[in-house]
Amino acid sequence: CGVFGVVGVTDAANFVALGLHALQHRGQEAGGIVSYHPEEGFNSARRFGYVRDNFTKQSLMETLPGALSIGHVRYSTAGSKGAAIRDVQPFFGEFSMGGAAIAHNGNITNANALRRELIERGSIFQSSSDSECIIHLMARSLQRDIPSRMEDALRRVEGAFSVVAMTRTKLIGVRDPLGVRPLVLGKIGEDGWVLSSETCALDIIGAEFIREIEPGEMVVITATDGVESSHPFRKAPSKFCIFEHVYFSRPDSIIGGRSVYETRRQIGVELAREAPVEADLVCAVPDSGTPAAIGFAHESGIPFGMGIIRNQYMGRTFIEPTEQIRNMGVRLKLNVNRALIRGKKVILVDDSVVRGTTSRKIKEMILDAGAAEVHFRIASPPTAWPCFYGVDTPQRDKLLAATMSEDEMRHHLGVDSLKFISLDGLYRAVGEAEGRKSSCPQYCDACFSGEYPVVPADKIEEGFQM
Ligand code: 5GP
Ligand code: SF4
Ligand code: MG
Repeated sequence: CGVFGVVGVTDAANFVALGLHALQHRGQEAGGIVSYHPEEGFNSARRFGYVRDNFTKQSLMETLPGALSIGHVRYSTAGSKGAAIRDVQPFFGEFSMGGAAIAHNGNITNANALRRELIERGSIFQSSSDSECIIHLMARSLQRDIPSRMEDALRRVEGAFSVVAMTRTKLIGVRDPLGVRPLVLGKIGEDGWVLSSETCALDIIGAEFIREIEPGEMVVITATDGVESSHPFRKAPSKFCIFEHVYFSRPDSIIGGRSVYETRRQIGVELAREAPVEADLVCAVPDSGTPAAIGFAHESGIPFGMGIIRNQYMGRTFIEPTEQIRNMGVRLKLNVNRALIRGKKVILVDDSVVRGTTSRKIKEMILDAGAAEVHFRIASPPTAWPCFYGVDTPQRDKLLAATMSEDEMRHHLGVDSLKFISLDGLYRAVGEAEGRKSSCPQYCDACFSGEYPVVPADKIEEGFQM
């Protein structure tokens, strides 16, 4: 998911709409915006579909006045699939000291247990979302102000959370102690402040990137007093999601002082060193494989070409919830550039193989177009474990790499060769010259290593074996 918030600008909701549009790649199912105006109180709008199809209408934006606003784009991980509008964030709660709205990116790993406990003690849940627990925990806190209630609530929550919240006067941002999901701070105009999942959404509104919110940090921001920072959680070594670098974030964002594009290009360089192959052409599976393909071509000296063309009007295939749509999706979204491919030995670079749906279809299309050989090079290690921290990977038995060896996968996909970047190679590409420290990995890489930095309590209760 993507989260975004602004304080201290006129008609803040318009800025939030733009920010969410720039974060659309983080969630395409639905979006929501809440705003506060001293005379009009809190207002909210939640809609299915793209930001640009909903939050561009003047008639809707006029209902969201005020200088303080937050928003969320949804990508369903926890909660029901094919969601109901009541699952669309931000969530809102009315407390004795006033209202508050929250938008959450990540996934709470003890949400089932929390929900049971809260329901037993009288909470009435409106949605099936794990994030709603935060509002109910806040309602039960005895603290006298909303930021302290949020602290109380989030201390009981396990897993990954980057939260953007608002009260009548404050914009609040919090990152979980491991900092699994990103969150950055920006400045706009005289006394405007912005919180965003990624820096690319600061650029769209002309805000200046100030810094990342630190793992375990809480910032409380007002237009008059600026940013107040605290560290309410126990210190822990950071475990930022390495897959944000590979796939999830936009290539024009900056993470941990590094350009995501440059990291992905470097992954391609590492891949070309680890798994060279003789060929005529390097092609990307667009868009997610493009920077790595450029790096691979550069390092190998084999020319880069646009062998697969993407229809710009389709969304990310993986994110469409059902198998059937996903299967069709590849063809609706990608087409082979036959004139370029015919008779060539082609290296295809993609960011990841999850179920193998994309790779299989693409291989068929490339061979139909008359390619002489197809070699897959994948910019992440084999995805053998599900993510429980906010990326919707399927159950283990649906993951190709959980059930097959690399050679079986190559056979299953029907390609001439298949190679994945090594975990160490990936760590080198993100700037860890020594590779992965096995005693204490510098990132979360559980979907590749099976080493989960937070015990996925709910899943273990449901029978998942680590
Ligand atoms: P597959 O078709 O193997 O199931 O999925 C792999 C494709 O899905 C890749 O092309 C990748 O770009 C895309 N993808 C989209 N969202 C995700 C995600 O959340 N996780 C992973 N691993 N891949 C994703
Ligand atoms: Fe990221 Fe994978 Fe960890 Fe999930 S399991 S947070 S996708 S590295
Ligand atoms: Mg892709």
